[in-house]
Amino acid sequence: MTKINGSDAMLKVIYDWGIDHIYGFPGGSFDSSMNAIYDFRDKMKFIEVRHEEAGALAASSEYKVTGKLGVCFGSAGPGAAHLFNGLYDAKFDKTPMVAIVANVPTSRQDIDFFQAFDEDKWFLDASVWCASAKTPELIPVLTDEAIRQAYARKGPAVLIIPKDYGWQKIEDNFRVNKDAHPEPNYAAPTKTSVDEAVKLLKEAKNPTMYIGLGAKDAGDEVKEFAEKFKTPIMSSYLGKGIVEDKFPAYMGTIGRIGPKAAQEVQGATDLVVWVGNNSPFSVLWFPKDAKVIQIDVDPAKFGKRHSTDVSMLADAKKALRAIIDAGETRSESPLYKAAIADRENWDAWQDSFKNSDEMPVRPEPIWDVINKKADDNAIFAIDVGNVNVDSCRLLNLHDDQKWTTSGLHATMGYGAPAALMAATVYPDREVWQLAGDGGFAMMNQELLTMARYNMHVLNIIFTNETLGYIQAEQEDESNQPLSGVIIPDNDWAKVAEGMNVKGVTVRTKKEFEEAVDEFKKMDGPMLIDVKYTHEMPYSTELNSLDDPAFVKKYQAEDLKPFSYFAEKYGLEADAATGASQHEESEPEEDTAPDTVSGASQH
Ligand code: FAD
Repeated sequence: MTKINGSDAMLKVIYDWGIDHIYGFPGGSFDSSMNAIYDFRDKMKFIEVRHEEAGALAASSEYKVTGKLGVCFGSAGPGAAHLFNGLYDAKFDKTPMVAIVANVPTSRQDIDFFQAFDEDKWFLDASVWCASAKTPELIPVLTDEAIRQAYARKGPAVLIIPKDYGWQKIEDNFRVNKDAHPEPNYAAPTKTSVDEAVKLLKEAKNPTMYIGLGAKDAGDEVKEFAEKFKTPIMSSYLGKGIVEDKFPAYMGTIGRIGPKAAQEVQGATDLVVWVGNNSPFSVLWFPKDAKVIQIDVDPAKFGKRHSTDVSMLADAKKALRAIIDAGETRSESPLYKAAIADRENWDAWQDSFKNSDEMPVRPEPIWDVINKKADDNAIFAIDVGNVNVDSCRLLNLHDDQKWTTSGLHATMGYGAPAALMAATVYPDREVWQLAGDGGFAMMNQELLTMARYNMHVLNIIFTNETLGYIQAEQEDESNQPLSGVIIPDNDWAKVAEGMNVKGVTVRTKKEFEEAVDEFKKMDGPMLIDVKYTHEMPYSTELNSLDDPAFVKKYQAEDLKPFSYFAEKYGLEADAATGASQHEESEPEEDTAPDTVSGASQH
């Protein structure tokens, strides 16, 4: 029998699972595995990131965009500790990934050795599966197990390999059986649940849909459902893109980051068809007495965010299909008509700023260029902060475009790692990193990685000199003086040039358009530093269109309150408050900061 190094056996398993690249940064305790990476240099691409966190976030983002898990590594001690943020991103967003972590040699463990710590205990919470190889022979077996467990438990698996085991020769007799790994095949709904859903749908006055990431393979059914039953569609943020943004019945994301119409329509419904959606903020939305038909594949989710009347433990696509086939076509409800008109008013208002020449430049002119110029199969790697608000409201996703962000963990610095992942996996597609100056500062060193591998990534940095997402929270929610949010401007184009990336600073729509055109003609990465407005996006939380100061602040003279459309289309007064009863039951003292939960609504 041929003999093979333990670390080579580990890499062979990964390769045999069809994974041809790995993200990481070397360290002494990982020498045996770096030797294996060298041995596999013709088969597996090693993406040498400049911070282990970037490798972990790249691996976490990979499944979100491709449906296949990514692999990263870190050496013992600091290299391992740097992985945590990426692991938690994967754990929170239910993303399969594998992290290989080195440990010091077995003869040096548990004696306060250099860079040594109790890795098994540390990684237990950050992973869905964590094991340490107890013998060299176990390395390939556990590598295979890590991949299986990550897929099955939908999260990060961590495999710890002591340095000495990686060097030891073991028999090369482990064979991967990846074809035994089935695609998920979730159940169809029961007939009883379909009958109950159809009945509720028939009885409802103003039904709506609320979709989430669980509906990602059911875009056609979502649209057919909305057209047949005349339901306005709202989504979680991660549900954006399941139906194209221009679909008329799509109101957008509910919540602070979403547009006005979604926020208003949710408060006026009497039936929510709640599909594959576990948005944490949804506990705050929808009238308390609205009925809910909930579709999910996880029994733990039923009634978690809102009481449920019909629980359909079934795949989104199958459940929607069954209801569409069994239900009767409905005519447009007052809420449907009001919703469509409300969205049109919002769209027209946003569009009216597309050619604004205000300085510093407003978001609308810049996002207009992004929408016009991005390829139909572009991939957007979106960081965390106000860029989530702008992308949620202004990015018109269509065709085969994909996007990703750090959803529930919401970690700043996600954009650059996700962008380099996308450039690795899809070298022929256009990759756009969209980030604020706060988030980008956390992972800007990854420009070095993009330059080194000549990745065709367009990094757009929206410089507004504030941590805008938190600024708006301090202003609109806790009503406190701005504290710690203002950050100094700096020259990101110069930083990029210093890292061998073409860097351009722009201040106008025209300059931005020219810079994007230049990127499209060139090879490799580019950074555009957009000196952006310091004004905050329209506050859908406050949404006080009856307050002249609010209207003036947001230049919202052309926006109409929801009550206008409600009245126009005969929506009953009690349904047309534009606010959910959950919100009404919040403390009346609206100037008092939330000192009870220690957290804002976000
Ligand atoms: P997940 O949490 O992934 O839930 C998916 C659900 O679908 C699960 O219950 C799962 O069991 C189910 N499922 C999976 N497969 C199927 C299937 N085949 N059939 C049926 N069900 C299935 N989000 C908002 O909504 N509003 C906001 O205002 C908002 N603000 C944010 C601000 C920032 C700065 C950031 C970074 C994020 C924000 N988010 C917001 C995102 C938010 O934190 C969550 O990540 C997001 O709401 C979760 O979306 P989801 O429930 O669709 O996805």
